[in-house]
Amino acid sequence: MVIILERNATELQIENIVKHLEGFGFQIHRSTGTERTIIGAIGVKPNFDTRNISILDGVDEVYRVTTPYKLAGRSFQEHDTIIKIKDVELGGNKIAMIAGPCSVESEDQIFRLAKVVAKSGAKFLRGGAFKPRTSPYSFQGLGEEGLKLMRAAADENKLLVVTEVMQIEQIELIDRYTDVFQLGARNMQNFSLLKELGKVTKPVMVKRGIAATIEEWLMSAEYILSGGNKNVFFCERGIRTFENYTRNTFDLSAIPVVHKKSHLPVIADPSHATGLRDQVPPMARAAVAAGADGIMIEIHDDPENAFSDGPQALLPETYLNLMEELRLIAIAIGRTL
Ligand code: PEP
Ligand code: MN
Repeated sequence: MVIILERNATELQIENIVKHLEGFGFQIHRSTGTERTIIGAIGVKPNFDTRNISILDGVDEVYRVTTPYKLAGRSFQEHDTIIKIKDVELGGNKIAMIAGPCSVESEDQIFRLAKVVAKSGAKFLRGGAFKPRTSPYSFQGLGEEGLKLMRAAADENKLLVVTEVMQIEQIELIDRYTDVFQLGARNMQNFSLLKELGKVTKPVMVKRGIAATIEEWLMSAEYILSGGNKNVFFCERGIRTFENYTRNTFDLSAIPVVHKKSHLPVIADPSHATGLRDQVPPMARAAVAAGADGIMIEIHDDPENAFSDGPQALLPETYLNLMEELRLIAIAIGRTL
C-alpha cells in the first residue's frame, strides 16, 4: 500500500500515520521527495480497509500497489533514484562508465588497465576476484589478493571499485575493498545472499539472471530494498535464447522497460551480452541511445592470454575510441558521459 501525504503534512502527523500503520503490522518505508513524502506500507493483508489510513490527518491518497515489487516501483517513488558513490553520481544526467578486465590477474595487469580506464574518463574500475565459472577447472579468481590489487590500482588512478560477491561469507571481506557490490547473473535469485546485501550500505549492482524475466529481476532488487539498502541499480547483461551467434541475447528493450517500471538506475553490459569483441561497440552505442544510465565494458591488453572472457574484451585503443563515440551519442540525447 502506498500512502501519499499532503504537501504540508507535519512531522507529527507523519509520526502518527507511521504509528497507526505499524500498529496494523505493516513494515514502513519512507520516501521523502522534494514536494511530498510517500510512505510505503509493506505487508500482505488482503482484507485491510484502506479507509483506516485515509482518514488520518496529513494523508492525501492511499492506494494498493498491485505489482509484486513495491519499493522498486515507480508508484513508491516517482523521481529517479540517484545513487551517490563518494563524489560520483549514478542515475542522473551523467552516464556512468565502468571498465576493466573480467578477472584481476596480476598486479601489472590491473595497474596497466586501471590507467587505461582513468585515461578514458571512466570513474569505475571493474574486475573479478571471485569468479563464477561454468567449469571448476577454470580460473576461479585471486581472492583477497585480487581485491587488494584492485583497490590499490583504483586508488592510484582515482577510480571506484566494482567487484562481484558470490557468497554471504565474502560480504565482510569484499566490503573492505569495494565501492560497489556486483551481484552476478548466476546469483540473481540467491535469496539468502540478496537478504544479506539488504543489510550493507554500499550500492549493489544487480545483474539480470541468465533466464530471468524483468519482473523477477525487479523482485531481486526488492529483496535488497526491503532489507533497508536503498542503493540498488540494475545491469542488463543479456539473456539465454536459442541464438548462438552471440553468447547471450542483449535485451535492449529492458532499458526503457526498467525505466518505466522502476525509479532505480539501469546500466548495460554489452560484453557479457554479446560475448564477442566486434559486437560490443555497436551494442554499447545502442545502449547509450536507449537511455542506459551506465555502460560496463570488459577490456584487456592481451586478450588471447586473458584468464577469462578474452574473446569479448576490447583492446585499450578500441575502448578509448568507443568512449569518444559514446560521448557524442550522450550529447545527442541531452546527457553527458
Ligand atoms: C562478470 O561481470 O564478470 C560476470 C561474471 O558477469 P555475469 O554475472 O553477468 O555473467
Ligand atoms: Mn567476464
